[in-house]
Amino acid sequence: MLEKTVQDWRSLAASLEIEGRAFINGRYRDALSGETRATLCPGDGRKLAEVANCGIEDADQAVAIARATFASGVWANMAPADRKMVLVRWAELIEDNADEIALLECLDVGKPISDTTAVDVPSAVRTIRWSGEAIDKVYDEISPTPANCLALVQRLPLGVVAAIVPWNFPLSTTAWKLAPSLATGNSVILKPASNTPLSALRIAGLASEAGLPDGVLQVLPGPGGSLGRHLALHHDIDGLTFTGSTEVGKQLMRFSGESNLKRTFLELGGKSPNIVFADANLKKAAAYAAIAVFYNGGQTCTAGTRLIVEESIRERFVEMVIASSRDWMPGDPLNPATRMGPMIDAAQLRTVNDYVDIGRREGASLVAGGKRVMAESGGWYYEPTIFDGVSNSMRISQEEIFGPVMSVIGFKNAEEAVAIANDSIYGLAGAVWSNNINTAHKVAAAVRVGTMGINNYFGGDMTVPFGGFKQSGNGRDKSMHAFNDYTELKTTWIEFD
Ligand code: NAP
Repeated sequence: MLEKTVQDWRSLAASLEIEGRAFINGRYRDALSGETRATLCPGDGRKLAEVANCGIEDADQAVAIARATFASGVWANMAPADRKMVLVRWAELIEDNADEIALLECLDVGKPISDTTAVDVPSAVRTIRWSGEAIDKVYDEISPTPANCLALVQRLPLGVVAAIVPWNFPLSTTAWKLAPSLATGNSVILKPASNTPLSALRIAGLASEAGLPDGVLQVLPGPGGSLGRHLALHHDIDGLTFTGSTEVGKQLMRFSGESNLKRTFLELGGKSPNIVFADANLKKAAAYAAIAVFYNGGQTCTAGTRLIVEESIRERFVEMVIASSRDWMPGDPLNPATRMGPMIDAAQLRTVNDYVDIGRREGASLVAGGKRVMAESGGWYYEPTIFDGVSNSMRISQEEIFGPVMSVIGFKNAEEAVAIANDSIYGLAGAVWSNNINTAHKVAAAVRVGTMGINNYFGGDMTVPFGGFKQSGNGRDKSMHAFNDYTELKTTWIEFD
């Protein structure tokens, strides 16, 4: 099959029919208030669609439907092998509509079409298929008891689960939440980010087509501050799974305590260390140092924004990274040659620019980038930006910028590298580059993060858990470990006469 060109994608975009209504009880409908909100295309700033702006009444209705559906047992009590068939069919339908969904994600998020076709859509398909295929292979336990007893330890669904997701990987995070929560038999209400509701709305209809019973999944677009808050405070929601900022994550923990202590699992921010020793494969490490920060415009929770480099090679290595950064000049997301698209919106562009000013004022030296580009497109593009001579105490090393901005920090020995890496409120991800197995393994073991790469960055797939230490969160997405977040353990103790 011929690869599509930028013109092909543009003409497909022009004929795209976009669904902006909420998805409740197996069908699309407007918000009860009739209110809508525009979703914009970050690539050119133009309006893509009007989307239902759901409020508290919509949420209450969706929760009541989800509760009734859960209580009916139509999904929760379905044999795992049958739930599997629905999820596997759903994954197939997403695959059948892959181009359209990849295009929606590209337009709504500003992600390069080469990423949404090769990464976002295939990863959502794999996530849903994997969780579906796994669920009828999970056995419960019989514990060691005296002979006159039998103790069963079972995992049961939580009940009604709310999922709140961010705008940077909307389709992937939606799949990471929906696949295990649905596989384990819950009824779910998903609130997408206001900036990026389209792919979740589209795949919800495909779930129905795949045979998901009405009322098991609702997708409610609407504002986090009111709709999201209401879900988090709701007394009839049993579990809340969230991906987003640490600030909102802290609020959600409080809301859980103020309401019904709903199980609350958080995947939050990061400021990840990428540690390079002098004995590493420097060519590969330099290419990956750029990927680690500039992929998705730095709008990645695991971005390796603190490049921690052994002093003896720092000058030479920074030159290599600057050269690699030139491959990441932003471009039109619909062009298959583009590697980095725009920032999600004007506010995020301002935040990035403000942090670059802060870095300058803190005394770091700007060695690449540092300004907005392609303003004439109407989109929110920023150059790949590198600060050298950064200290780990500077704000640009401690705070999540969520843009294409790298801080280079020097170190003299492994102990110092580990101390710098761990001097952060976050603990999401990191990497170490060294050809000495002792150094690499010791450093990897000492850095307090949920995912650590050795001689790679962004390694991992559906078979391994993903989540953070410290203020990067407490839950785990992906793998069988994700099932723990959506289930309660129940003991049944039987005594024989
Ligand atoms: P955010 O502002 O925390 O928003 C995330 C979601 O929460 C959105 O759906 C948002 O709705 C909603 N929300 C906002 N305020 C709320 C409130 N008071 N109560 C309930 N819900 C609320 O985060 P973001 O800016 O979208 O995403 C970027 C952040 O996500 C970064 O910190 C990044 O590191 C983190 N992230 C973490 C992971 C991970 O797995 N660890 C993965 C991706 C991203 P609105 O859109 O309507 O505001």
